Amino acid sequence: MAKKYILALDQGTTSSRSILFDHAGTPVASAQREFRQIYPKAGWVEHDPEEIWASQLATAEQVLRESGVGVEEVAAMGITNQRETTVVWERATGKPVYNAIVWQCRRTAERCRELKEAGHEALFQARTGLVLDAYFSGTKVAWILEQIPEGRKRAEAGDLCFGTVDAWLLFKLTGRHATDYSNASRTLLFNIETCAWDPELLSILGVPAAMLPEALPTSHHFGDTTILGGSVPVCSLVGDQQAALFGQAAFSLGEAKNTYGTGCFLLMNIGKTCTLSKHGLLTTVAWGLDGEVTYALEGSVFIGGAVIQWLRDELGMLQSAAESETLAAAVEDTNGVHIVPAFVGLGAPYWDMEAKGIITGLTRGVNRNHLVRAALESISYQSADVVETMALDTGVALKTLRVDGGASANNLLMQHQSDCLGIGVERGKTIETTALGAAYLAGICVGFWNNKSELINIWQLDRRFDPQWTLAEIDTNRHKWHHAVRQTRTGDHGPSPPII
Ligand code: ADP
Repeated sequence: MAKKYILALDQGTTSSRSILFDHAGTPVASAQREFRQIYPKAGWVEHDPEEIWASQLATAEQVLRESGVGVEEVAAMGITNQRETTVVWERATGKPVYNAIVWQCRRTAERCRELKEAGHEALFQARTGLVLDAYFSGTKVAWILEQIPEGRKRAEAGDLCFGTVDAWLLFKLTGRHATDYSNASRTLLFNIETCAWDPELLSILGVPAAMLPEALPTSHHFGDTTILGGSVPVCSLVGDQQAALFGQAAFSLGEAKNTYGTGCFLLMNIGKTCTLSKHGLLTTVAWGLDGEVTYALEGSVFIGGAVIQWLRDELGMLQSAAESETLAAAVEDTNGVHIVPAFVGLGAPYWDMEAKGIITGLTRGVNRNHLVRAALESISYQSADVVETMALDTGVALKTLRVDGGASANNLLMQHQSDCLGIGVERGKTIETTALGAAYLAGICVGFWNNKSELINIWQLDRRFDPQWTLAEIDTNRHKWHHAVRQTRTGDHGPSPPII
């Protein structure tokens, strides 16, 4: 029977999904299951690796069953995943030795502070493109080894395996212990220039090399799985944000995407050179494909769509997130109001953990609509700050921004994004860009799609937003926004971004 589909496994932070894509890149069937979030203490977040695996497998079985697609019709499988989340398991039994420590978990923040104080940050940035933060896997692995009896000794003996979620799923699917460069580049253990685990960093963090997965290109034949009934090759492992960049067909240097979810994730393709940021952005491997490695600059906004959730759930100002568009459109502007949602500090390019949120410019004429509009604009202004920082780092001015994620459905927000950046914003027809990226990378590996040019032609525009502000208006409005941002920052919290 003809191989007509690619199966993408999308292992997210709150749910596992499986999606079947056809040759036109259309999602033809999908299944989704949520799993437990475990909060053992304030600031700590865990997942049960067995639940991750069980929910992922169940959705893969369900999507085949409900669509009536036979496993023999699946040309390849691709895996995309929540990044940085850390799993340690026994090589011999495949049993996890501890819960997965989730990217959001802050339990190693103190350890990161010590490492910074010991003067290690510059070395880590130079080798990994990251900052020394509890977010990344390295300090999480070391923490697990300290919790379990003889952890480090067993790891040194090769009895324990470390992996991010892609590696954990691959191990369950095929028995092979491997990861890809895009996931490896989020661990603080991986030299992104040479694409190899870095012995010096391993030794500083206390992570034995014997427990590391083999690091391989993103689009690669990792092995075959028979777990779904027939044999299916697993041909991509890719971190979720890098997958979305690929799914948006942002294959050329200077192309970028922004995902508007709870937070916003902006990634720009910076080509074959791993330029380091001088302004607080991360450098990461976008993908390894066809014998080449492509890099990306990444900046995240902690509170994106979540500010709308806050208006809805905490302030009761909205019935639904979608209603924000109707309310904001009922007024011409924000009536001088700015909301800076620094609820958990500020991310790139500010990296100010102490900043607190603020509403400025309140007068008697300000009503609910103005506040909702200001909340939406805070999402696009924060994203614009990241885009501008990327331009400073790369010297490449963005021409268009491709968008996806739940809040990209909001037309008013997208128009404002285009206005305050002064560039076009393009929303594609497919919103499943993360899973699609994993499918593309797997499909290219098996010749289901021939090359990237073919994928560029698959990408279809839903709507383009063109800027309507003059350069002077951009300047004035962003200046006012920066004025509000400055008021969230109390005292000296590290370097000020150059744009303020
Ligand atoms: P995640 O993957 O982070 O859970 P989603 O991509 O599902 O996020 O997007 C959900 C987020 O987007 C929520 O924070 C929600 O408040 C926001 N959101 C969803 N729809 C809209 C909308 N039409 N306008 C503004 N924000 C929205």
